[in-house]
Amino acid sequence: MATRLWLSLSLAALTAASAPAQDARSALQAAAKAMGVENMRSIQYTGTGWQGMVGQNVAPDQDWPRVDLTSYTRTIDFDTMSSREEYVRAQGNNPPRGGGAGFPFLTPQKVVNFVSGNVAWTLNAQGQPVAQPDAAELRQIEVLTTPYGFLKGAMAPGANPTMATRREYDQRVTVVSFVALGKYRINGTINAQNMVQRVQTWIPNPVVGDLYYENVYTNYHNVNGVQVPRFHQHQDYDDGGSLPNVSGGDHAFGLETISDVRLNVPNAAVTAPDAVRTAKPQPVRVETQKLGEGLYLLAGGSHNSVAVEFTDHVAVIEAPLNEERSLAVIEQVYTLMPNKPIRYVVNTHHHWDHLGGIRTYVHEGATVITHEGNKPYYQEVLRARPWVLQPDRFALHPPEEWSEGYIFETVREKYALTDGSRTVELHSIQGLAHAVGMLIAYIPREKIVVQADLYNPAAAAPNASNRTFQQNLRRLRLDVATIVGIHGPPAPMAQFQGFVTKTQ
Ligand SMILES: [Zn+2]
Ligand SMILES: [Zn+2]
Repeated sequence: MATRLWLSLSLAALTAASAPAQDARSALQAAAKAMGVENMRSIQYTGTGWQGMVGQNVAPDQDWPRVDLTSYTRTIDFDTMSSREEYVRAQGNNPPRGGGAGFPFLTPQKVVNFVSGNVAWTLNAQGQPVAQPDAAELRQIEVLTTPYGFLKGAMAPGANPTMATRREYDQRVTVVSFVALGKYRINGTINAQNMVQRVQTWIPNPVVGDLYYENVYTNYHNVNGVQVPRFHQHQDYDDGGSLPNVSGGDHAFGLETISDVRLNVPNAAVTAPDAVRTAKPQPVRVETQKLGEGLYLLAGGSHNSVAVEFTDHVAVIEAPLNEERSLAVIEQVYTLMPNKPIRYVVNTHHHWDHLGGIRTYVHEGATVITHEGNKPYYQEVLRARPWVLQPDRFALHPPEEWSEGYIFETVREKYALTDGSRTVELHSIQGLAHAVGMLIAYIPREKIVVQADLYNPAAAAPNASNRTFQQNLRRLRLDVATIVGIHGPPAPMAQFQGFVTKTQ
């Protein structure tokens, strides 16, 4: 009896180990046949929809701010793993609340993105190719998470897909899973009609780590022999199912109508221009400008920081972008002010491009100073947990004080950092559509205001953020000589006053 039981158990184990690969292949083949992918070497689809500005919501509990995609065309060549994505985005009737480069869009903006194998690039406003080495893997993941790219990727030699079944949307479905590019687990749900109805994966992100990325495909219909769905993409989770809603951003992309689909289009494969293929990744540069005694602007990239020296410590205003940028800035702070710890990092607002270095500073031992409204989000999203795809120092050896909430100082209206001689005042900006809980720093000795996203001297015409900033400076009665931006060079107050009162 015992032997028999052991035999049947080991048979069951054998079946469980070997069956999924075979079953996964048949599930994929059935889907490829039903969806018209069997003889597909390339596809081009055209439509209209919307895009969400990921990491740029007006408040942490809100969805990503949206713009309309008034035209959208993607062309994918599967043999060369190349893709050309071209779209025009416009503000439309979407609320102009939140942020992101160029948001809200006063005029429509055209974007063209490419990938060819391991090379990614875009076109600038003049139509010149610009290398984007950091986007190469993500662009390939975009292709592999289309319904067609998923089937192609899972059936490619060496993909070794596995399979599980479950109930989803009141149907028994098949989930086929494979690992792409050596590290991205991609799961596709194939429904009872053999349609790919969901493809999910995770992508590395400096703020939330392994960022959840999923496409939901519904409303399939036949166009020129291919099954074409409604495209609906989430990036990150909306946790509104359990109040309070701490992290509300999720809607990232959608195609609501598809007007044209072509198969095996001529010249679908794109080749990377030589200038792009041979482009070297730009090293992080930190350029120091002295603003006063023990007061430094640390520039040299798209986002600046400001370092302030106190008697026995340093405060850094803003930790933007990512760990790489932050480590370079921190090293420069220690070169300028040896033997003084970075005790505080001031965060102006919660947008991801201004938040991506916060973990590096906390790992360095700094206390975060931010608006009180941001604390639940920062605690939840930045909690110590494993980051599998691209672990940062904080993930590899987390300081436990972070998860227990000890390393925050929060601001409601006003907060002062002072050692008796050097003072930095933090003030909360009111009535701003770009982000709630925005802080500015006022440094009385040099009459400097440090601000993020409220004024960039490179801008052509004044916007709502500029006007709100001016109203707040008046309300706070600050005696300002110079405006120092997290973006762009410092500017005299008179230049800002002239700019903001300019009529368009
Ligand atoms: Zn912003
Ligand atoms: Zn910004």
